[in-house]
Amino acid sequence: MEKLVIRNIGQILSGKLEEPVFDGDCMIAIDGKINDWGHEKNLDCDAATTVVDANGVTLAPGLIDSHVHPVVGDYTPRQQQLHWIDSTLHGGVTTLISAGEVHMPGRPKDVVGLKAMAIASQRWYENFRPSGMKVHAGAPVIEHGMVEQDFKEMADAGVKLLGEVGLGTVKDGKTAQQMVSWARKYGMQSTIHTGGPSIPGSGLIDADMVMETGTDVIGHINGGHSALPDDQIICLCESCKAAFEIVHNGNERAAVLTVNTARELGKLDQVILGTDGPAGSGVQPLGILRMIAMLSAFGNVPAAEAFCFGNGNTARQRKLDTGLIEKGYCADFVLLDQAQHAPGKSMLESVQLGNLPGVGMTIIDGVIRSERSRNTPPAHRLPEHIA
Ligand SMILES: [Zn+2]
Repeated sequence: MEKLVIRNIGQILSGKLEEPVFDGDCMIAIDGKINDWGHEKNLDCDAATTVVDANGVTLAPGLIDSHVHPVVGDYTPRQQQLHWIDSTLHGGVTTLISAGEVHMPGRPKDVVGLKAMAIASQRWYENFRPSGMKVHAGAPVIEHGMVEQDFKEMADAGVKLLGEVGLGTVKDGKTAQQMVSWARKYGMQSTIHTGGPSIPGSGLIDADMVMETGTDVIGHINGGHSALPDDQIICLCESCKAAFEIVHNGNERAAVLTVNTARELGKLDQVILGTDGPAGSGVQPLGILRMIAMLSAFGNVPAAEAFCFGNGNTARQRKLDTGLIEKGYCADFVLLDQAQHAPGKSMLESVQLGNLPGVGMTIIDGVIRSERSRNTPPAHRLPEHIA
């Protein structure tokens, strides 16, 4: 039995918008799953195989990037960059969700080829986790000529996602809606490229197309990079039950508009975060933390709630067993503290003032994966692996 005990925690963020901060100073995980938390004096901390002294820092569920474009291993051809996933782990992210492996050079666009690549991508990231990162990949981009049986075959083979609708040849709402509903019938989640084209050859996806297609996630509602006009973003927020995914590689003004609109509508639980990296704007190892700080600062959201956009909301919208402090959920955590010399009376206040926190440790499935971040500003206090 592997037993992880994290003691001396300053505060526990839950990932739950309805109660973003939990009482307690201790977290216990057994065999990689959350087992118990609260005050150390009330918990059974005996027989630990790993002990971490949090030294007063904050523990939060590991962050989830809802929108990445991985290709293979820890390499991206998009910016010819190695170890972008390891760098992202150092930004507090423990789970990545593919919106399509579209940067694969020579990506097959014929139906048998795209199915083969989707299945292979799902497998190679299931079989190999760069630096321990969970990568949900195998997200085919729909093309003309696909029939219902294709979605059944992929689902039977373990494919659980569709890549961004609109990056392939299907650019009309009627065909897209048909394929998305086949995917849904076989348990596959879907997302769509919202806004102006990202690269030559991709097209405009406007609010009408998003609504007609009816994907589970409104992918980069703030554009990737060109956003829709304000009235269309507001219309999507008003009309849709799908997740409002805000990305780092998008339009920041549209991101703030989305959060303000969602808050006024009482729909902040639909807000989730992604980076859209690797992208033209590069890889964004701190993208999720930067958006939490930006949306807290400019969107008037308390920092403890803004963190939920980057873990618990995504977990719920994506039906993942991570991103929330919940018994039986994966022991995926980020330990963070106020950055050195950042203004504010606490870590959360410093984030609400627009500053990044410092990451001191990440843990995935109860195993320490990284210690002091090489990417965030240095944290005031650091957790310590003591046994
Ligand atoms: Zn896109």
